[in-house]
Amino acid sequence: MKVAVYSTRSYDRSHLQAANASAAHEFHWFEARLSVETASLAHGCAAVCAFVNDRLDAPVLTALANGGVRLIVLRCAGYNHVDLNTAISLGLVVANVPAYSPHAVAEHAVALLLTLNRRTHLAHDRVRRGDFTLDGLQGFDLHGKTAGLVGTGRIGVITGRILQGFGCRVLAYDPVPPAEAIAAGFEFVGLEALLAGADIVSLHCPLVPATRHIINAAALARMKPGALLINTSRGALIDTHAVITALEKDRLGGLGIDVYEHEATLFFEDHSATGIPDAVFARLISLPNVVATAHQGFLTHEALGNIASAVIDSLDAHAAGRLPAFALRRLSP
Ligand code: NAD
Repeated sequence: MKVAVYSTRSYDRSHLQAANASAAHEFHWFEARLSVETASLAHGCAAVCAFVNDRLDAPVLTALANGGVRLIVLRCAGYNHVDLNTAISLGLVVANVPAYSPHAVAEHAVALLLTLNRRTHLAHDRVRRGDFTLDGLQGFDLHGKTAGLVGTGRIGVITGRILQGFGCRVLAYDPVPPAEAIAAGFEFVGLEALLAGADIVSLHCPLVPATRHIINAAALARMKPGALLINTSRGALIDTHAVITALEKDRLGGLGIDVYEHEATLFFEDHSATGIPDAVFARLISLPNVVATAHQGFLTHEALGNIASAVIDSLDAHAAGRLPAFALRRLSP
């Protein structure tokens, strides 16, 4: 099957090529993000393979469907960027990769937490400059502290277990607490109690209308003074302006993020020659108690291999006239 692969990077290409060992599918690689302007690149392809910051709204989906595309395979778990109901109305099948390695993202959340708490990013810079002083690098023991998980699905539950290994008490908020999270011994509480009781808050819920800006000024005011906030889920869970204010007033102890609400035009590109073209993000990362990575929670060998295998499985299924195992269903209005 002919497949247009958007937002292609070297690691996507190598893993997809390895998974396509039988050469059953013909990949057309595009570094460009999928948008109204680039949708025509997929003309003649039966499938599109897209990533987190590709645009999959009604105009793009219509252009793809008119150009002959019948299948959209996401190289990611989240599908908040897809107008799913429009896609299904247009006769498009959309498949995601729901669980390629929840360990990769959970471990990255903990890496952000450890860096932020023990200031290893600042310490490393100092040591490289020959400055071996320790002032300002003080953290706290995770042992005995309370962590709060907002969302306890695949990634949240692993993050909680890792934090339990550090000796943390784990509070959790999830409207539908999964059995695995209950079995892990997390203490399920309301969101307000979690925010008030946690020294560390880590976000692991999907981005849906109910969770957009779930961390806003009111939520930040409820958090323990000096608490650390970690977000590896989706940027728009956090109101960035409110978080900058809380950091600048020393109300929030620190922020560790792998996602940013306006990351679509920023992440996965090299802006180092021209400077960061987003004044809000530039201000955020100028703060010493902020650690940011550019949506790399998924970036492990295991996760990339699993994503590639799942993409090939979906393409194989569609080519054989079957519905892919991870085909997404219409969302209720
Ligand atoms: P999941 O579907 O297994 O779990 C999500 C959990 O959130 C579910 O238990 C659900 O009940 C809960 N939830 C739903 N609404 C909620 C709300 N209002 N408040 C609290 N909890 C709520 O998802 P997952 O695989 O654990 O992924 C979690 C998030 O991580 C996804 O949103 C995804 O976008 C993001 N993610 C990021 C990366 C990365 O590279 N940074 C990679 C993969 C996934």
